[in-house]
Amino acid sequence: MRILISGAAGFLGSYLTDLLLAQGHEVIGVDNFITGNRENIAHLRANASYKFIEADVIEPLKIESGLDRIYHMASPASPIGYVKHQVATMKVNSQGTWNLLELAKTKNARFLMASTSECYGDPAVNPQPENYWGNVNPIGMRSMYDEAKRFSEACTMAYHRERKVDTRIIRIFNTYGPRMDPYDGRAVISFIRQALNNESLTVFGDGKQTRSLCYVTDLVRGINLTMESNFIEPINLGNPDEVSILQIAKDILALIPQSKSKITHHPMPPDDPRVRKPDITRAKEILGWSPTVPRAEGLKKMIEFYHDHLVKK
Ligand code: NAD
Ligand code: UDP
Repeated sequence: MRILISGAAGFLGSYLTDLLLAQGHEVIGVDNFITGNRENIAHLRANASYKFIEADVIEPLKIESGLDRIYHMASPASPIGYVKHQVATMKVNSQGTWNLLELAKTKNARFLMASTSECYGDPAVNPQPENYWGNVNPIGMRSMYDEAKRFSEACTMAYHRERKVDTRIIRIFNTYGPRMDPYDGRAVISFIRQALNNESLTVFGDGKQTRSLCYVTDLVRGINLTMESNFIEPINLGNPDEVSILQIAKDILALIPQSKSKITHHPMPPDDPRVRKPDITRAKEILGWSPTVPRAEGLKKMIEFYHDHLVKK
């Protein structure tokens, strides 16, 4: 198949590219590098099955060839990233989604929208099943991301219902691994960078808030299985291994015994979800998918990667 991926130079987009190329497909990657990194795709330069287009998907894309699949992964994804790029985040998840749905319609391609657990906001239900509609502050410091992703989901369903585009939606929960931007402020990569640099691990609030961490290779396998399934409504993808942020900081320190870092506490950002854990019953039943990489193993791989790659800025 010929497959287009938006956000292809990002963390998840680059792993998805590797998976699809390994399956023997042709991949066209599109990215404007607003939060992406050229290093993430440097290894693909000589690959004849890979083509890269530097473009902003807020503008319509001109693609001459046919397309079979479109994965819409483009969007700033970290709280620091989407607050820094508030309007761009809203545009890529509105006009960008719109443009790629139009492209899917023109090319008769299947379209997958990368949505997020942030659609559930600060959830009143834990774990979160797909039929929970969420608790989102529509004007808060996460709203440019949460509400735009919710719009993207609605837009995807409208194109499916009215314009007969073949669509899929995934709600991704916190995912970690090599190639994350060390300075994008997300907890796991920040703690690893801080521990390797002997800086304080900056835990926000008391650290009792929870997240559930999925290793990147598990996640992209689930994304691909969703695309190739027949299921239209959203599917949660994440690892239900729920853990407190303080525990994650402690685990990372234990895995880097040479670190001289200590844990320090800082004010809790507004609207920060107190809990988050995916109910993955649907993914198990529909896709036969569940994550396989235990947290300690995933963190070890990530620490090894950053031990070699991290240059203190
Ligand atoms: P990332 O920032 O590493 O990758 C996103 C990529 O999209 C970047 O390379 C960026 O330059 C590109 N991009 C952004 N706007 C663009 C535009 N207008 N045109 C072209 N390219 C553009 O983030 P990620 O963690 O890889 O996230 C990928 C997708 O998965 C995002 O849509 C994000 O919302 C979603 N997601 C990720 C997580 C996670 O834990 N990583 C969780 C939930 C949802
Ligand atoms: N967090 C933290 N210290 C940091 C970065 C994040 O304590 O340096 C907390 C953050 O407040 C949140 C959790 O860790 O409760 C996960 O944050 P992240 O930015 O990774 O992702 P989120 O799930 O909030 O989008």
